[in-house]
Amino acid sequence: MEPTGVSTPIGTDRLILRGVATTMKLKAWCPRNALSKMWRTTLKQAQVILQLPDWLRALNEQQTDPFEDVPARMDFVIDLARKNIERGTGGPFGAAIFASDTGELLAPGVNLVEPAHCSIAHAEMVAIALAQQTLGVFDLSANGRTCELVTSTEPCAMCLGAVPWSGVHRVVCGARGEDACAIGFDEGAKPTDWIGALGERGIEVTRDVRRDQARTVLQQYHTSGGLIYNAERIDTHRSDAASE
Ligand SMILES: [Zn+2]
Repeated sequence: MEPTGVSTPIGTDRLILRGVATTMKLKAWCPRNALSKMWRTTLKQAQVILQLPDWLRALNEQQTDPFEDVPARMDFVIDLARKNIERGTGGPFGAAIFASDTGELLAPGVNLVEPAHCSIAHAEMVAIALAQQTLGVFDLSANGRTCELVTSTEPCAMCLGAVPWSGVHRVVCGARGEDACAIGFDEGAKPTDWIGALGERGIEVTRDVRRDQARTVLQQYHTSGGLIYNAERIDTHRSDAASE
């Protein structure tokens, strides 16, 4: 049976990941007085909320028509990336999950790393998770459905890792990873033939769709002084010296 809410483009616009079970397990094996203040504080905050920006929630309510072709779907996610930087709600990346056959928008996503204080809140991850919440499944290929991830920039190492588990059958990319690296983002260690690796799992990759337009958004972010939010690298040489 199809879960309710699937007929609307977005059935949910935020994710809440609660840590109640984790809290209970910790309390079961760890005496209360042995919990450090840090742990108690962490347990009180044992949930994560990722919520789409208000402008995107409003936009989604207006967006009911399907997207007929791949360029139209890419235009939509590039516009999400552009709006995300213009509204100051995150990094220069947009993504969405579409039903491949009908072009129905199942879930949009934008980069929320900085506002959500969450390094995993990349546009692709947000879109995948929201689509799964909307459909009530952890596998977007469940029930014979074919879905595609359309992303304004090629997936980084983290998002690439998430693709096979998501159940999408196709990934459509705008800008290349090197375009993101050119403005300072760290895309992580990806296999050289990552497209071939996905292909072996039956996942098709289409690159360079509206690449120039997607790259322009990245450059717009860079020239406007947008935060490049890479984690600080660990200086292994300095650590070695300190231990000597
Ligand atoms: Zn990513």
